[in-house]
Amino acid sequence: MQYPTVTTKLVILLGKPLGHSVSPQMHNLAFEKLDLDYCYMPVEVAPADLQTVFNGLTRMNVVGFNVTIPHKINIIKYLDKLDPLAATIGAVNTICVRNGKTIGYNTDGEGFLQSLESEAHITPRGKRFFLLGCGGAARAISMTLAHHGAKKIFICNRTLSKAEKLTTEINEKIADCAITVPQNAANRADILQECDVLINTTSIGMHPKENALPIEESLIGKHLTVADIVYNPLTTQLLKVAKDRGCATVHGLGMLVNQGAAGFRLWTGIEPPVKEMFATVFSAMNTV
Ligand code: NAP
Repeated sequence: MQYPTVTTKLVILLGKPLGHSVSPQMHNLAFEKLDLDYCYMPVEVAPADLQTVFNGLTRMNVVGFNVTIPHKINIIKYLDKLDPLAATIGAVNTICVRNGKTIGYNTDGEGFLQSLESEAHITPRGKRFFLLGCGGAARAISMTLAHHGAKKIFICNRTLSKAEKLTTEINEKIADCAITVPQNAANRADILQECDVLINTTSIGMHPKENALPIEESLIGKHLTVADIVYNPLTTQLLKVAKDRGCATVHGLGMLVNQGAAGFRLWTGIEPPVKEMFATVFSAMNTV
């Protein structure tokens, strides 16, 4: 391992709490593997200190940032420029510092799309998606699906008003393809029959409540590709049930690694060692 020097390029993860994050292991492994003089460091920041800390860091040898909960939206007001997709999504998870200027990106949705393509050979154009949940991750994924030509996106959330707000925003900003489905709608089975991909973006099924299912088992038809963005455990109860019912499945670790790989390309301009990053995240998850 190389030790950092004054010329080492720094990439900083901003968020709070960060104790669970496996991104430092994933990126430092990739830098080391490619013999790049970069260092990735987690920095916990409270919302009240975000501006001060961010401004200070951009005056150091920092070439990029990852941004996570609770700063993904608030960081935008401190940036010089915003990538069009990040502007549409309204949240940033990756920042590049180029010639002293900060540019915000959102690679969460792209990371999901890449794992859908590499693991299930599905591209969004012309496809119908059924999303469970409507939080930050659902927002990035649904906006990115719409941006890439999804035909229909059905959004089903416990809090109906949030789903209504997101579908209106997608239909106004990108394409008229999003539809709200109440969680208790009687016709969910018919709608799912029409869909190609079911995506769980809720936290249901996440450790330690691993036996929970975000949708009734009987609604999961074998024609569906079922993706779960929960990555701890790797094979969630939803994915177990979907596999048993004959569905193709996509786990959440691919999204995590691919969103990081997209950031790595933006910071370095170099293709990252994705397979090794995946293996590192997988083993790190069992130790943090
Ligand atoms: P978030 O903004 O807090 O949204 C959580 C969503 O889950 C909301 O739609 C919420 O519904 C729903 N939900 C939570 N508990 C529920 C319950 N008991 N019943 C029904 N709905 C429930 O969270 P997020 O950032 O989008 O993250 C969601 C999950 O995705 C987390 O498990 C996170 O670890 C995972 N994630 C994975 C990746 C990856 O790279 N694989 C990336 C980001 C997030 P309401 O609106 O009704 O509250």
